[in-house]
Amino acid sequence: MEKKVRVRFAPSPTGPLHIGGVRTALYNYLFAKKHGGDFILRIEDTDQNRFVPGAEEYIIESLDWCGIKFNEGVHKGGPYSPYRQSERKNIYKQYADYLIEKGYAYYAFDSAEELDIKRKEFELQKKTFQYGSENRMTFQNSLTINSEEVKQKISNGEHYVIRIKIPENETIEVNDLIRGKVLVNSSLLDDKVLFKSDGLPTYHLANVVDDYLMKVSHVIRGEEWLPSAPLHVLLYRYLGWESEMPIFAHLPLLLKPDGNGKLSKRDGDKLGFPVFPLQWVDPKSKEISSGYRESGYLPEAVVNMLALLGWNPGTEQELFTMDELIQAFSIDRVGKSGSKFDHEKAKWFNHQYLINTSNEEVANIFSKILEEKNIKTDYDYILKVCSIVKERVNFINEMWQQSSFFFIAPLTLDPKSLKDKWKENSSELVLEIQNIISNASDFSANALKEVVSIYIQENQLAMGQIMNALRICIVGASTGPDLFEIISMIGKDETIKRINFAIKK
Ligand code: GLU
Repeated sequence: MEKKVRVRFAPSPTGPLHIGGVRTALYNYLFAKKHGGDFILRIEDTDQNRFVPGAEEYIIESLDWCGIKFNEGVHKGGPYSPYRQSERKNIYKQYADYLIEKGYAYYAFDSAEELDIKRKEFELQKKTFQYGSENRMTFQNSLTINSEEVKQKISNGEHYVIRIKIPENETIEVNDLIRGKVLVNSSLLDDKVLFKSDGLPTYHLANVVDDYLMKVSHVIRGEEWLPSAPLHVLLYRYLGWESEMPIFAHLPLLLKPDGNGKLSKRDGDKLGFPVFPLQWVDPKSKEISSGYRESGYLPEAVVNMLALLGWNPGTEQELFTMDELIQAFSIDRVGKSGSKFDHEKAKWFNHQYLINTSNEEVANIFSKILEEKNIKTDYDYILKVCSIVKERVNFINEMWQQSSFFFIAPLTLDPKSLKDKWKENSSELVLEIQNIISNASDFSANALKEVVSIYIQENQLAMGQIMNALRICIVGASTGPDLFEIISMIGKDETIKRINFAIKK
């Protein structure tokens, strides 16, 4: 029988979740849903030194905002509880002990200072120090010290770690759904620490043990973990679980817009786009990092953009709902090479989703912005403005800038527009139009357009010139949606007032 698909997202709560992490979670989610499987949120917090308060809550809120849902996890519970590794503390030691018993791991007593000296010696020779098959017999460990002494040291409470004993010159095979068969010579690996005397495992041991115990079928994670995969394969083998080892898929990196290296927080700051899903306030420095949500992105747009940064559907389709993504997603179509982040494209996606968002939904958000500006208007009016203006912006928070003239008269007239478009006889012509408008009985945009057009034709005037000048009066600049629509909405009195004001100016 085929193994049930069970995948996990396993972040360490060391700070805000990077947008690349959101993509990893998304691909796991799509894969799980596509195959009718389960999706687990496991928090890997065994490195207490790197723990950042609030990071776990941030991760949960971010994924929730994106509509990425879990079947099991820290916040959901489930049959393999607990899902926070610090609460699973008692589980891991027995596996480290088992590895020692089988000769696949050993105790090491070298102090941090001793190792540091070694590391420095190597650095001076421009080499990297690695504790492993070549030199492990020159250190203080249970391979070089007799077993009585080892027992003594441990019972004396001496500081120790448990290290894996990497075999010498063995070819380790990692089968990866994206990269194919990856062969690594074991001599390139070091004897990684699996367990520390503080009673906590390191990432490697805890990750493998939990994936096994939680019956994870596929490990889909970022490419930065590919170098750890051979070690994980060895751990599965040594723990006797190789036949149940999950299938690996290492996702390509998200790259800087110019393709030179991994997308970092600094790129976002420099180029003006968020690299985090939600705003993050660093608990220590209080530094604020911007988020997609606070920058006005719709979660559906962010999800759609991320889905296509690394995966392609094999068709021209660019807009996908979450359900469509689930249907279309497959690991075969995830590329090997990194994907460049494209901020313009991100905005484009948001625009697409904004124009497809109902006017009501846009109006609900825009109403709050108007409230903050102390603008009181009835809801239907706001709704109408949204229907006209949403086509013209990428974000709801750009709407005010594009629509303020629907609510308040322009306070100033754009000097450039005046210089380019306000001619000597403009005042005179605009007053003629004001006269026609004030006599109009039907104040719909179409009717207004008609009476004004007829007047202009009958008097053989220049349509463009008049409309430009009229627009400056009403909008204060030479941009904006259909002018008759605006006039019809603001009404007769306001139109007359604005024309008078502009002419005086
Ligand atoms: N805790 C690791 C991280 O922070 C998980 C890597 C994995 O998925 O195995 O990304």
